[in-house]
Amino acid sequence: MSKTIFSKIIAGEIPADIVHEDDLVVAFRDISPQAPVHILIVPREEIPGVDFLEERHREVIGHMLLTAKKLAHREELDEGYRLVINSGEKGGQTVDHLHLHLLGGRSMQWPPG
Ligand code: 5GP
Repeated sequence: MSKTIFSKIIAGEIPADIVHEDDLVVAFRDISPQAPVHILIVPREEIPGVDFLEERHREVIGHMLLTAKKLAHREELDEGYRLVINSGEKGGQTVDHLHLHLLGGRSMQWPPG
């Protein structure tokens, strides 16, 4: 199976504005930001999406959320922010490598489009 674009970023094969990395996840700024702050938090393991999660992924999923909280405060999003995971075609997922969107720096609307 060929690598996803996110695996290539994680491997350093294509450039990205990386804001955090550790053993489990890498976080980088979205190439097409939908808010003043738009960061993607991506597991190093190439999990294709939420539908592919297994019990063994509990740690990395929790770590993604905790990393999002840490980055939100580092980015001074103290008035609030939004976390999004798109799943599947109708969910708006375009890259088949699990990722958590951290969006902030503007007021968010509800319902989302
Ligand atoms: P999805 O639509 O799957 O939830 O989110 C995929 C996100 O990846 C989109 O917001 C898109 O802008 C972003 N993206 C796609 N290709 C690249 C890339 O090469 N570099 C970066 N930094 N972001 C990308």
